[in-house]
Amino acid sequence: MLEVYKDKQPLFYDEITHSIQNKKISHAYLIETNDYSEKDDLILSFAKMLLCEKHLFSSQNCGKCNICHLIDKNALSDFIIIEPDGMWIKKEQILEMKEKFKTTSLQNNPRVYWIKQADKLNKQSANSLLKFLEEPEGNIIAILEVANRYQVLETIRSRCQVYSLVNQQIQRKFSDFELLVKIIQVLEEKENMAIAYLPITLENDYHNKDFWNTIFTEMIDIYESAIRKMQNVVYTDYGDILHLIVSKNRISQVILKLQVLFSTIQNLNYNLNMNMMLDQFIIEFSGGGCHE
Ligand SMILES: [Zn+2]
Repeated sequence: MLEVYKDKQPLFYDEITHSIQNKKISHAYLIETNDYSEKDDLILSFAKMLLCEKHLFSSQNCGKCNICHLIDKNALSDFIIIEPDGMWIKKEQILEMKEKFKTTSLQNNPRVYWIKQADKLNKQSANSLLKFLEEPEGNIIAILEVANRYQVLETIRSRCQVYSLVNQQIQRKFSDFELLVKIIQVLEEKENMAIAYLPITLENDYHNKDFWNTIFTEMIDIYESAIRKMQNVVYTDYGDILHLIVSKNRISQVILKLQVLFSTIQNLNYNLNMNMMLDQFIIEFSGGGCHE
């Protein structure tokens, strides 16, 4: 029951129930989970709300009817869950879902697909999904779930109603905020010349993979706050460093920088040559590399 989240996720709950009660149901939702621990149950409850008539008129009740029962057992033909098959969500999985929904016989009933870890869409599957989102057929509703909204292509994100869950468990993992600020200053002010400056600033830490993992994660939080600030929505105030970022970048540049941060974090798991990886990071981060 979505009601359970009235206190735990008040913003999401209020907005969703309000829009559903006003019959303003979108055909695509992007739910930014921020790794909220109860995200699966919350999204399942949301799906029930979309699919079960009793839920549709009241956020409470139910969880008892046949439809809700089938959803719990993942046996409702009008509800499809797509999750990564190995590393990626494959194009075939998207096509299969389209095909299944084409042949579903129930008339006029809403049909819902839930894409788990939408950041795992590869180029091909993202393209097929995009076509589907551009030309929604019938009463089909997409729920895309991703830890961070910027991990989804802008073209997909812009077609979705975006909701963000709050994760209060996230704590500041990094105690040396001053050092973090210094790194961002060097990156923003020296741009690609940071290749020469950062090793001097950081000395031994420069080659430490775990160190960079923490730094990049923290930087993502700060650059996301910068975007929020630029869009005049609620943001975490990181003080002067946030001002610096906002004054030096356009929104599109900050989005690009976030993408570079995400791909670099992923590369940390593979790349053994830290020097080369960091050089590449600095070049791409300063806008000098070629991006997808
Ligand atoms: Zn029900």
